[in-house]
Amino acid sequence: MTAISTPADAKITTRFAPSPTGALHLGHAFSALTAWTRARQSGGRFLLRIEDIDIRRCKPRFTTDILEDLAWLGLDWDGEVRRQSAHFADYGRELDRLTTMGLVYPCFCTRAEIAAEIAAAQTAPHLVAHGPDGPLYPGTCRHLGVEDRRDRIASGREFCLRLDASRAAERAGRYAFVEAARGEIVGEPALFGDVVIARKDTPTSYHLAVVVDDHLQGVTLVTRGEDLFAATHVHALLQRLLGYATPRYAHHQLLTDENGRRFAKRDRSLTLRALRDAGVSAGEVRARVGFG
Ligand code: GLU
Repeated sequence: MTAISTPADAKITTRFAPSPTGALHLGHAFSALTAWTRARQSGGRFLLRIEDIDIRRCKPRFTTDILEDLAWLGLDWDGEVRRQSAHFADYGRELDRLTTMGLVYPCFCTRAEIAAEIAAAQTAPHLVAHGPDGPLYPGTCRHLGVEDRRDRIASGREFCLRLDASRAAERAGRYAFVEAARGEIVGEPALFGDVVIARKDTPTSYHLAVVVDDHLQGVTLVTRGEDLFAATHVHALLQRLLGYATPRYAHHQLLTDENGRRFAKRDRSLTLRALRDAGVSAGEVRARVGFG
């Protein structure tokens, strides 16, 4: 397990925060066991959060299965399970604070329009900024005037809300976060460009909800996969803007199958449910992911 810089005697509060878009697989078991073990070894708290803001892709039956699978695996959690879909008011309130600070703008672009804009700019590749997930939003709607925005909203156009990264950077100043394996990292507010802070269909986005919840739930150590490391630059920025303490972060390796591929929801044979149905015991699953 990754060494963490929190003193051994400090009681941590950490969490496992799956999205109920499919069944838990071995990669989730590893992540949940990593967080649970750290919490229990420190005499601290292990929280379970269901990240179901994507109301179209998340299904209640997956949530039920997740709770059952984790209990089968031998994990227990402290307090109530927090389901993000029941807390939109919390995110909306914090979104309003960012809006009042002048850091948020409506974006009316469709995915296709953004792709076309980026493709058009490819003729001058130095003008297309890239982030960890690919080309960044080119900022088209950032330049719209107040009246234009008002008219589009009044005409019923769908829009998401984006964080104006350069204004946010200016307001935040220098900020940093501590990552267990890497030490102190200076935040790069523009890394993902103008990220979506509220989706077209919900008053929040992954970035905002995760930051608000970690704050409200008193999380002191965020345990999660390495794939989310870069997003921490955005999360620490939001924490700074909203006046929250920044927890410590410990990103763990991603488990891979025998072909070196990350486990994914498509690997049906390696869901905890399928293994259990095939007669594999919880102890064997724990051992298989390094917690024997
Ligand atoms: N819900 C995210 C996922 O399932 C994890 C978010 C986090 O741990 O910050 O990948």
